[in-house]
Amino acid sequence: MSDAAEDKGLGDYRPLSYFQLMEVSLRELLVEKGIVTDAQVQATLEDMRARGPEAGARVVARAWTDPGFKARLLENGTRACEEFGLDVPALRLVVVENTPQVHNVIVCTLCSCYPRMLLGLPPDWYKSGNYRSRVVREPRAVLAEFGLRVPDHVSLRVHDSTADMRYLVLPMRPAQTAGWGEAQLAQIVTRDCMIGVAVPKVSDSL
Ligand code: FE
Repeated sequence: MSDAAEDKGLGDYRPLSYFQLMEVSLRELLVEKGIVTDAQVQATLEDMRARGPEAGARVVARAWTDPGFKARLLENGTRACEEFGLDVPALRLVVVENTPQVHNVIVCTLCSCYPRMLLGLPPDWYKSGNYRSRVVREPRAVLAEFGLRVPDHVSLRVHDSTADMRYLVLPMRPAQTAGWGEAQLAQIVTRDCMIGVAVPKVSDSL
């Protein structure tokens, strides 16, 4: 390939997959018909890429400090998130609570469904066939590979997400955080804690 082609980024050329081709076709049709503009599509993509797990962490920290909010969150995650101005239209958000008896972990066995409005884009391992197939069959072993040893007396529940139902794990608040405010608490709530492959550690915030 010539230097000029590489300068233009053409060195990255790969044939489009079936779904990529569908996406491009649909997007170009929507732009052609004047339903959206290219600029709107780009702005939405930038917004999605810029999003991290901060919103989810704020929701968890609020649930840890406000029992009323926690009850509303467990009752109806979608509606409770609206209190944060987080709009999750057409999606049902189900929040599952870790307890001393039960540990929850989420997966999408079919593809990569994920609460993006709360956690940003999913990590590559979440989308991998390896994680999707194994966490269902041998969750304890998979969590151990993440460095999380769940004691035998704790039940493991694996939740399979779908296109219109997303899960978020509400981790247990570490005992050492008594007296902490919401902002400080949010700092120890990582993406992996809300997927269920890790638990909050106080040292993470130091
Ligand atoms: Fe999916």
